[in-house]
Amino acid sequence: MDQSSIDALRSQAVPAFTHFIDGQHVAASDGASMDILSPINGQVLTSVARGTAADMHAAIAAARKAFDDQRWAGQAPAARKKILMKWADLIEANALELAVLGVRDNGTEIGMAFKAEPGSAANTIRYYAEALDKIYGEVAPTAKDVLGMIHKEPVGVVGAIIPWNFPMMIGAWKLGPALAMGNSVVLKPAETASLSLMRMVELAHEAGLPPGVLNAVTGEGAVVGEALGLSMDVDVLVFTGSGTTGRRLMEYSARSNLKRVYLELGGKSPNIIFADAPNLDEAAKVAAGGIFRNAGQVCVAGSRLLVEQSIHDEFVAAVASVAQSMNVGDPLNITTQIGAVNSDAQLQQNLGFVETAQGEGGQLITGGNRILEDTGGYYMAPTIITGVSQDATLSQKEVFGPVLGVTPFNDEQEAVRLANSTVYGLAGAAWTSNLSRAHRMVRSVRTGVMHINTYGGADGTVPLGGVGQSGNGHDKSLHAVDKYCNLKTAWIKL
Ligand code: NAD
Repeated sequence: MDQSSIDALRSQAVPAFTHFIDGQHVAASDGASMDILSPINGQVLTSVARGTAADMHAAIAAARKAFDDQRWAGQAPAARKKILMKWADLIEANALELAVLGVRDNGTEIGMAFKAEPGSAANTIRYYAEALDKIYGEVAPTAKDVLGMIHKEPVGVVGAIIPWNFPMMIGAWKLGPALAMGNSVVLKPAETASLSLMRMVELAHEAGLPPGVLNAVTGEGAVVGEALGLSMDVDVLVFTGSGTTGRRLMEYSARSNLKRVYLELGGKSPNIIFADAPNLDEAAKVAAGGIFRNAGQVCVAGSRLLVEQSIHDEFVAAVASVAQSMNVGDPLNITTQIGAVNSDAQLQQNLGFVETAQGEGGQLITGGNRILEDTGGYYMAPTIITGVSQDATLSQKEVFGPVLGVTPFNDEQEAVRLANSTVYGLAGAAWTSNLSRAHRMVRSVRTGVMHINTYGGADGTVPLGGVGQSGNGHDKSLHAVDKYCNLKTAWIKL
């Protein structure tokens, strides 16, 4: 990746995108489209089809037909594997093009986007492609006069609703296992980050995926997302996004066909710094990266910094110094460390949280404001607020922006109590040199992921998912495969 290649790609006009249904580009049934604004400069980048419920029904019908005639599920595992491997290769071969397109759409800094988006998506697709002919059924330990077998069957049609922060990475977390297990999919990308995912769908077809197996419909969540959620012909819904939408999806399921719903929702993840952390400078650097990269638009962001009282002031000063040194700006500049906030609405919401936090007694240590406004883009200075009480809004509600709330604690017991004091339970970290304490923290902090002496950075071999209101399903690793399978018992009298 070099700056001149990025600049060459960014100067290209982005064509308008339409839906992708049954292997074809298809405009919205009423011809409507919606402008896509780039968060880099607030200018119109291109447009996408503004889908209707009828468009979504057409995509679901195509997926259902493709599943029922077994054009994909009926292929030998080795044949499906070959196509998915080729898809991963094509994503890799087009990685910079995909990354730049994605960044122009959603604002993530290119250094992070290049690895986390096409890089991670290709790895994920390849991981499940490699796995698909190594997943066996079971023979049950029955009495001798019967044979009990457990088959893993594809569920049928999967609806996948994707957020804007890492569309390709999170999209691949759903598409990889869903397609590997032989399902058909209808994809609904986020309004403000659909372009790179739509391009990835095109590449799947270049790799040889049969038409109708993977369909994608752009447009508003409240219209096409709702139509997907309420469909009687969708068997499983997988989702990453906000808790508000997650609740709606469960309602849609209850009001329609009781489809299974797997939710990956937000978090308010605690990053806990004990005075005996092995390297406080490193901890400060990682803590800043863990909340400020991608402008805080990371579901597992360490947004609550819990610091042992004896090192509180010195540690906060260290994190603030890292924050102030971070390069915020044009996400397509390879030296940028914090890119743009995804939309003006998100930026205003972030600023509102800062105001509320101060109104509730928090002290602004650094940031708190919009910057680079003359670019027309949506940029925010990395922000640190101390003195945030356990019940303050900033402790309890997810910002999804570059805003870090800091709360001191006196001992391990208090740290655990504070860590567990929200409705969320996605991720967390503890920094300590005490091995016993490290294990106690893993056991006692209620999250889906707990880091020790690091933050973030887990690879595809381990699951990601939350407890509590952070969700009920896991992406990544072989555990994710279960969401896309039905267990079928065969009971044979011998
Ligand atoms: P969102 O819930 O508004 O949107 C997510 C997706 O849902 C979009 O595609 C949107 O179009 C769709 N949607 C919106 N309303 C809908 C409706 N009524 N019916 C069906 N679909 C609908 O969330 P967002 O703003 O895109 O993403 C930010 C949130 O996602 C944050 O809260 C963040 O923490 C969470 N998130 C979680 C994870 C995770 O792995 N747990 C990962 C990334 C983001």
